[in-house]
Amino acid sequence: MRKVAIINEEYCVGCTLCIDKCPFDSIIGSENLIHRVNYNECPGCKLCINVCPTDCISLIEIEKGNEYSKEKIKFNFNRKKARLVNISMNQAKSINYQIENLIASQND
Ligand code: SF4
Ligand code: SF4
Repeated sequence: MRKVAIINEEYCVGCTLCIDKCPFDSIIGSENLIHRVNYNECPGCKLCINVCPTDCISLIEIEKGNEYSKEKIKFNFNRKKARLVNISMNQAKSINYQIENLIASQND
């Protein structure tokens, strides 16, 4: 037995706040769509619960054993870190690109 997060889909408004908060990338969803927890990835850390504006996340016990390993959790944590670094690099590139375009258009 172990605890995992579960989302009550009736009340999920697709705000994505839980995805941003989850350190292990265990939540699947996109803006304005219902979100779900991947039980295999969730170690039940509870961090998503307090950020949900509609209080639709809770913890439940599932029969599935504690077969997820520390290595798996560490892998997920590092995967999220790498994803965030990529996102910020892409954002920086996009901002630089837009600034260069703006400067070029003013020099025309
Ligand atoms: S309990 Fe923790 S690991 Fe599970 S979905 Fe919420 S934030 Fe992610
Ligand atoms: S924080 Fe709550 S309402 Fe927002 S996407 Fe997650 S589960 Fe849905």
